[in-house]
Amino acid sequence: MTNVLGLLALGMSMTMCAPKVDTLKADTPEEAINKLMAGNERFVNESSIYPRADIDRAEETAPHQAPFAAVVGCSDSRVPVELIFDQGIGDIFVIRTAGNNVNSDMVMGSVDYAIEHLGVKVLLVMGHGSCGGVTGAIAENEEEHGNIGKLLGTIRQDITHYVGKTESLDAAIREHAHIQVDRILSYPHVAEKVKKGELLVKRAYYDIQTGKVTID
Ligand SMILES: [Zn+2]
Repeated sequence: MTNVLGLLALGMSMTMCAPKVDTLKADTPEEAINKLMAGNERFVNESSIYPRADIDRAEETAPHQAPFAAVVGCSDSRVPVELIFDQGIGDIFVIRTAGNNVNSDMVMGSVDYAIEHLGVKVLLVMGHGSCGGVTGAIAENEEEHGNIGKLLGTIRQDITHYVGKTESLDAAIREHAHIQVDRILSYPHVAEKVKKGELLVKRAYYDIQTGKVTID
């Protein structure tokens, strides 16, 4: 009897100590979103498992990449994409620029590469709280010149109605990301993939305090 109880206790303890694995599939756009959200939940709950983040995975993916998701995010150092989604090497094709605006050939070329060549199932445009790029873009007396001025000007073009309304920064960040989603969807080859159910293009927002991502 003692042995049976002992074995039961051992079994329970092994179950509790068993390493959690990220077994979710990402064969469809919906599954890809679920996989990302499950990873973000682990991150928020401080139960990240850092999957596929070792040299074995580097070797496995060296000949070929097949990421299930693409994320257009901000370069901000507080928004490390793989960490906040608890994903690993070869999982996410990440495009990061300050302010996550896609109105440039370089960025849209990268987006197209992820969609056309890599066949990602989901593409997120992810804004985040306290974004410096959007803050600079809606500042009334912004005097940045050179390349920074051009960057802020590109973001500003999309959200001119927020210029001077710094109290509405969060709304501006969310609307700016939404506009980028609409811009990406305006390309017929992207819309076609969405129509066929092969791709979802969504807006996301990352809360830099709680670590939580919301997708809508
Ligand atoms: Zn930012």
